[in-house]
Amino acid sequence: MSYFKTQEEFLTDIECLERQPRVPLAFLPTPIHELKRASKTLNGPKLFIKRDDQTGLALGGNKTRKLEYLLADALKKDVDTIITAGAIQSNHCRQTAAACSKMGLRCELLLKSKPPEEIQGNVLLDLLCGAHIHWSETEDLQSIAKKSQEAGHKPYVVPYGGSNEIGALAYANAMVEIQQQLKENFTHIVFASCSAGTQSGLVIGSKLTKFDGKIVGISIEYGKEDQGYYLKMLSDLANLTCSRIGAKVTFTMDDFIVNTEYAKGYAVIGDLERDAVLFMARQEGILLDPVYTGRAFGGLLDMIEKGAFSKDDKILFWHTGGTPALFARGKELL
Ligand SMILES: *Cc1c(COP(=O)(O)O)cnc(C)c1O
Repeated sequence: MSYFKTQEEFLTDIECLERQPRVPLAFLPTPIHELKRASKTLNGPKLFIKRDDQTGLALGGNKTRKLEYLLADALKKDVDTIITAGAIQSNHCRQTAAACSKMGLRCELLLKSKPPEEIQGNVLLDLLCGAHIHWSETEDLQSIAKKSQEAGHKPYVVPYGGSNEIGALAYANAMVEIQQQLKENFTHIVFASCSAGTQSGLVIGSKLTKFDGKIVGISIEYGKEDQGYYLKMLSDLANLTCSRIGAKVTFTMDDFIVNTEYAKGYAVIGDLERDAVLFMARQEGILLDPVYTGRAFGGLLDMIEKGAFSKDDKILFWHTGGTPALFARGKELL
């Protein structure tokens, strides 16, 4: 037995995170700024925003950060094609298509829908970036990958939302990023949470950086009845991610805060979402999206109205992108 420790054993958890391979795709750090007019109008806690809608790749969004790690893994594996899937207006698929352009990879997207009558929003951008789209409500990623292989390609499958133990690294690292940026001590970070990657990552990062505010995910898809299921998904993903990189922290469901109150049907636009999109556009000139950030910010506005925060609180709303979906759903917003 060696008397000396190996170099690995001396690494701090943050060093474990920082040595993970990534390809540069995003403009980082994304800005943080105060929402001065909105805070004044609401007369509640001070609001700030983290602009991951400005990550830069084909109109940006949170998936660009995840793809930095996912594509680094893909490129190690001698593949020529990336395959992923999502809803018709998937921001994840659009950013994957754009990342593939930049990295010189083929891109196949499974969009779980019938072909639309009008090419709009993210679908337009998918096609501009040269992605090959499979329109199907019944096929799955594995069957698309099999077909791609049979056609002579070497595919790499990225899961829905890029949310696995590789993609989640991106938001752990984003917490390191904001700690280096911070001039404020935020009491809360609030954002749209859907396929677990963003929230698992943020909570890992908050533990590693000893951030002492609360990380509050507004659930987009999982309602009250699925709260336990989603909390388990979040903690399992956080544990898997940390064991992959050799970070010595563990998580339970109690480490996660998820508000499921606003998850009333995926991509259903109601007053909550519409009012939030209009409020942010008219107070701050910032564009939210109708599916994710509109719902999450609408939830935050509702929580403020119900007195969930004190006037001394400083809240960071993490804008996760999605702007192109506005163009596909414009009629429902005005
Ligand atoms: C995918 C997405 C989210 C949710 O991120 P997850 O990591 O899936 O929880 C939030 N906002 C936008 C705009 C998205 O595209």
